[in-house]
Amino acid sequence: MIVVMEPKATQEQIQKMVKILEGKGFKIVLNEGEVMTVIAAIGDRRLVNPESLASYDGVREVKLIQEPFKLASRESCPEDSVVTFPNGVKIGGYERPVMMVGPCSVEQDFDGLMRVALAAKEMGCQFLRGGAFKPRTSPYDFQGLEEKALVYLKEASEKTNMLVVTEVMDTLDLPLILDYADLIQIGARNMQNFKLLKAVGKCNKPVLLKRGPAASIREFLLAAEHIMCNGNQNVILCERGVKGLDSTYSRNVLDIAAIPIVKKYSHLPIIADPSHGCGRRYLIEPMAKAALIAGANGIMMEVHHDPDNASSDGAQSLSIEQFKDVQRRLNKLVGRIDYDNQVEKKKHSIGV
Ligand code: PEP
Ligand code: MN
Repeated sequence: MIVVMEPKATQEQIQKMVKILEGKGFKIVLNEGEVMTVIAAIGDRRLVNPESLASYDGVREVKLIQEPFKLASRESCPEDSVVTFPNGVKIGGYERPVMMVGPCSVEQDFDGLMRVALAAKEMGCQFLRGGAFKPRTSPYDFQGLEEKALVYLKEASEKTNMLVVTEVMDTLDLPLILDYADLIQIGARNMQNFKLLKAVGKCNKPVLLKRGPAASIREFLLAAEHIMCNGNQNVILCERGVKGLDSTYSRNVLDIAAIPIVKKYSHLPIIADPSHGCGRRYLIEPMAKAALIAGANGIMMEVHHDPDNASSDGAQSLSIEQFKDVQRRLNKLVGRIDYDNQVEKKKHSIGV
């Protein structure tokens, strides 16, 4: 940790800070420059609160050197972690990027869901997504079919041999969802629902953790840390956009840079969701391509059999026909990325 003192900080203020840090067991390296003094404190940063240190008189800034997340950090696992599902599908590292598609919400029309699932399977997608318990901004909007939706998802996924990903909003629903889902989604709004993170941290199925709409990357990785420190190491992150200045043209700002940043600081796989990231269906394809090129381990996108009449998120859902066109082009890109990944993997394994 680095404590930067104000240029006008008095010797008394500097010594006070040194004493506080030494008292917490930090080893101090004092750098008294011509303009200002910088205190390098080496030790366990969990023993102090950087914000409270920053509020002392004479302190300009407190900078953390070591990341506050441990299990999620790159240092704790220099190799990329790969999440493997019982049917052999893998997410992360040099594995071929995966595709998760399906409607925002599972609706009454099972045939509609089945048509989406069949198209997804035909195009080589591995996961069928669909909301059963929906987090809606308005309490008057469609809230999801709950268990009925889970039954539909299971049936459609069994018929197409795909994996199910669906959101859990409440710890009370978790046992039920665990009976049906292969991948448990924590939605953006619940990224910092710590009780829920703890509960999925104790479960034995992989977790898809979506980035909160206003969460920094550090907060995102700390949310993953909550899951991991409770025992579950199978965490897949999902960049789904953060609030921007202007929602006229795009619902959120899909933070493509978050993908390589997360990969630099963490070993966890990360996928991107351009449907929620942009909120407009025409933006799905270019942003999915951008995310894949930036290194995403997969893409989630919303596909509906009748988007104009969808119960939720129709504007950001592709129709089945549009999906097939988009997916055809994404598959080409994924094929090229997969080829490069395999070359890299080979180089890596022979130590080039
Ligand atoms: C969803 O996947 O349907 C969803 C609600 O996503 P998010 O939590 O990213 O808004
Ligand atoms: Mn949605």
